[in-house]
Amino acid sequence: SLLHTCEPPSLRLRSSLHRRSRLGGRTATPSHLSLPPRSRRPAAARAAMTTASDELGKGIAEFYDKSSGLWESIWGDHMHHGFYDAGAPATITGHRAAQIQMVEEALRFAAVSDDPLKKPKRIVDVGCGIGGSSRYLAKKYGAKCEGITLSPVQVKRAHALATAEGLEDQVSFQVADALKQPFPDGQFDLVWSMESGEHMPDKTKFVGELARVAAPGATIIIVTWCHRDLSPSEESLQPNELNLLNKICNAYYLPAWCSASDYVKIAQSLSLEDIKTADWSENVAPFWPAVIRSALTWQGFTSLLRSGWKTIRGALAMPFMIEGYNKKLIKFAIIACRKPT
Ligand code: SAH
Repeated sequence: SLLHTCEPPSLRLRSSLHRRSRLGGRTATPSHLSLPPRSRRPAAARAAMTTASDELGKGIAEFYDKSSGLWESIWGDHMHHGFYDAGAPATITGHRAAQIQMVEEALRFAAVSDDPLKKPKRIVDVGCGIGGSSRYLAKKYGAKCEGITLSPVQVKRAHALATAEGLEDQVSFQVADALKQPFPDGQFDLVWSMESGEHMPDKTKFVGELARVAAPGATIIIVTWCHRDLSPSEESLQPNELNLLNKICNAYYLPAWCSASDYVKIAQSLSLEDIKTADWSENVAPFWPAVIRSALTWQGFTSLLRSGWKTIRGALAMPFMIEGYNKKLIKFAIIACRKPT
């Protein structure tokens, strides 16, 4: 049932743009870019959609409930790719350093200021895992950070790790949906999404929510898995490419993928400013081979078996990620922008 959500989102974007022009060129809003407004969708379709994304959300929550402990025991509290300079050492310490470098490179790319007067003071970590970024950013900037994740196990662990570091007054975590964030408008001066965007079934709504909770002038950073940009003559990815992505979707509870330029279009439609994107696929290349090697150690292998089928299925899909990168189908992208002041 997750499979049918894997249609190419670029098609969705394109057909909805057509719909917009048929409606007489109305201003693009998040809902126009992805789907007709709720009220114009038939009740049955509305119900089916709610079920599809609820089911996806339930899968995501269970996947991370079951697999986060294993990941942490081998890789620590950052559940994201590392950023590697050419010739970086491939030790486990090197990998952990590369994960911190990923955070630093993202901040640098988005030109987040270290200046005491301009540095972020209120941060939201959307799809926070066990709070690796939340605690790092809170400490780095002396900021308050609120993390949201779908996994109750992650919230509990994130809280425990924060308490152990005496950060419980600075960082907090809750189970909440990125597409319906439990925050008022304009709250945060840094909006951070590290490798959670690929899980979002409606990218327009996702970016819309990031923009909504951002304060005027806030920086928004999305680091995420994308598919390659389509060429002007292409309507969608090739069937064999979609096939490979589907296998990854099933193992990691992902809906349809989009490209970095789809994200840029969405950000433009929301009137976000200073939109910048980069392809960091080359810089993350050593990561998945290292994860596979760690799963093949005795500790990795036995913990994997104990973590159950969902985690094992995730591990079995790791070679598909490498294949996707090798075929230049999967892109590791950063998209950064600012909310207008
Ligand atoms: N950013 C973290 C975790 C990345 S793993 C880190 O870098 O360590 C992906 C995270 O996205 C998980 O915590 C998962 O629960 C969260 N996630 C996925 N879909 C979500 C949604 N709709 N709302 C909130 N969190 C979501």
